[in-house]
Amino acid sequence: MSKILDCAIIGGGPAGLTAGLYTTRGGLENVTMFEKGMPGGQITNSSEIENYPGVTGEITGMDLMMPWPQQCQKFGLVHDMSSVVRVTKKDNLFTIHKEDGSTVDAHSVIVATGSSPRKVGFAGEDEFFGRGVSTCATCDGFFYKGKEVVVIGGGDTALEESLYLAKICSKVYLVHRRDSFRSAPNTVKRVENTSNIELILNSSPDEVYGDAMGVTGIRVKNKDGQTRDITVPGVFTFVGNNINNQTLIQEDGTSLCDLNDRGEVIVDLSMKTSQAGLFAGGDMRISAPKQVVSAAGDGAVAGLSAISYVDELLH
Ligand code: FAD
Ligand code: NAP
Repeated sequence: MSKILDCAIIGGGPAGLTAGLYTTRGGLENVTMFEKGMPGGQITNSSEIENYPGVTGEITGMDLMMPWPQQCQKFGLVHDMSSVVRVTKKDNLFTIHKEDGSTVDAHSVIVATGSSPRKVGFAGEDEFFGRGVSTCATCDGFFYKGKEVVVIGGGDTALEESLYLAKICSKVYLVHRRDSFRSAPNTVKRVENTSNIELILNSSPDEVYGDAMGVTGIRVKNKDGQTRDITVPGVFTFVGNNINNQTLIQEDGTSLCDLNDRGEVIVDLSMKTSQAGLFAGGDMRISAPKQVVSAAGDGAVAGLSAISYVDELLH
């Protein structure tokens, strides 16, 4: 029978890796990070990152994340390249259920499985993702300084990000599939009063196209079937997020810890969930700023909280 882990970390993005660094370096003996792919998380899809403190060169998300697993492994973090299906708890022991049917027990768990931006579903969306198609204005907006961009969506995120982009870009075309917005009325008013935001309503993207350098334009189609080509180097899509909380959902459909109505994990400032010994951080938690630096911060806090919990449980 395998040894009981002091801590199991689910997810190997910035939050999970930082939790791995803090738990192992902080003295927990057996810590395994379950990451279904290569560690690094969704930032490895980004062609440039400019807002990670202290990193001044022109680097890709992959460049940024490359040393993180090595640093953790130096302190004893084990990477198990498995997809976790579910985390359960009986008495004070958690069980990690892996996709291959095997299980591993742990005294504490840090879940950091992130979120996945929803796809819109137009031609070229995957091909040009990270090369002109983006889901993060805070991250990529600056690359379009003084240029025109298109935003897709009609919720709070799309409108707030349009306002953000309008301060950096020369013009924002906001493309929404209906003629009214889901966003808060005050935000809609601010958008309507911003001179360099043009609303393209009752319209959906048909195709994004470009060349080897990236996006050069987008074709949108309105409800009457008329198409319009917009020449832009950048297309931002904000059509909602899926929180990767599947590992917390039990066989009877309940959740191992409290989630809000958007499926985000409710945590306190120590990254504690409503379940003792279960911690969460990064993009999947409530009010997440969805940035690498904040996910890493959450991972550090969750790691320190897990150390205290295990210390108290075992000694
Ligand atoms: P993630 O990075 O999403 O990591 C979660 C990990 O969990 C993934 O590796 C996934 O494989 C793994 N996982 C999920 N489910 C399971 C499972 N069941 N079993 C095992 N493993 C699992 N932020 C910035 O600060 N600056 C930027 O410039 C920037 N640019 C971005 C550009 C793009 C294109 C995107 C998509 C995001 C960008 N972000 C940027 C946001 C940033 O990437 C995220 O905020 C950050 O990665 C969140 O980290 P996380 O650890 O919470 O989750
Ligand atoms: P959201 O509210 O779900 O809105 C998604 C938008 O994308 C909707 O306008 C939707 O159109 C559109 N959409 C969805 N799928 C599409 C598709 N395939 N093609 C074209 N358009 C598509 O998502 P969100 O804006 O990310 O917000 C998520 C939650 O966070 C919301 O509850 C929101 O209020 C909240 N939030 C709050 C704040 C704030 O309080 N300041 C800020 C950001 C987010 P339809 O309208 O036609 O469905």
